[in-house]
Amino acid sequence: MSLQERKAEVDRRIAEACRRAGRDPREVGVIAVTKYVSLERTREALAAGCRQLGENRWQDARAKWEALAEEYGAERAGTGPEWHFIGSLQTNKAKDVVGKFTYIHSLDRLSLAEAIDRKAASLGIEVPCFIQVNVSGEASKHGLEPAGLEELARGLRDYPRVRPIGLMTMAPHEEEPEATRPVFRRLRELRDEANAREWFMEPLAELSMGMSNDFEIAIEEGATRVRLGTVLVGHEEERV
Ligand SMILES: *Cc1c(COP(=O)(O)O)cnc(C)c1O
Repeated sequence: MSLQERKAEVDRRIAEACRRAGRDPREVGVIAVTKYVSLERTREALAAGCRQLGENRWQDARAKWEALAEEYGAERAGTGPEWHFIGSLQTNKAKDVVGKFTYIHSLDRLSLAEAIDRKAASLGIEVPCFIQVNVSGEASKHGLEPAGLEELARGLRDYPRVRPIGLMTMAPHEEEPEATRPVFRRLRELRDEANAREWFMEPLAELSMGMSNDFEIAIEEGATRVRLGTVLVGHEEERV
């Protein structure tokens, strides 16, 4: 299947999931996760209309980021990729990604917020961030415990360059995607609770949840961004 065909198939499945949930497909943004694929394949994704790109490690993303920044510079500005940093981020690496990635999906502690804020202030920008929550409680998953969200939210008020816009989670890999539903539902409930209790300065509008294996369930539970690698751009052997 060509990338266009894959994209059409993903769009169709998103539309179906939205129909089941009574949602408008325009509420669901697709992030093409290019971490498993080459620069060439990433260019194809852009040509197929995937402008939101996700990567989880700066070392691996760097060559693609730099090449595309050049290709989409100056005269093509505004048509190039919008980058999402979706991997866990060490505090001392925040300076590498702030200013290059528009969104950060893995904010989970105040020390990281401080590092993002410092770099953002030096560039005169704000960084929209998702707070990563470990809903499933799996030890292998990064993210904040749900019980820590209120305290983090209040602490973020000290870092005005960090703009919390939503919550992010990863569900455990399940043979049966339906089994992920409670994780996604819990993330939505947590966001709604945070908004009802005004933990954040501004209400959180977004939920970054759903990957290749479980995106339809995540959409039914309210995802506003799905992060799709394998199902959309594929998974090239040499980058496994
Ligand atoms: C790799 C990755 C994805 C995409 O994974 P697929 O299952 O290939 O769609 C999504 N989110 C995060 C945080 C990832 O690291």
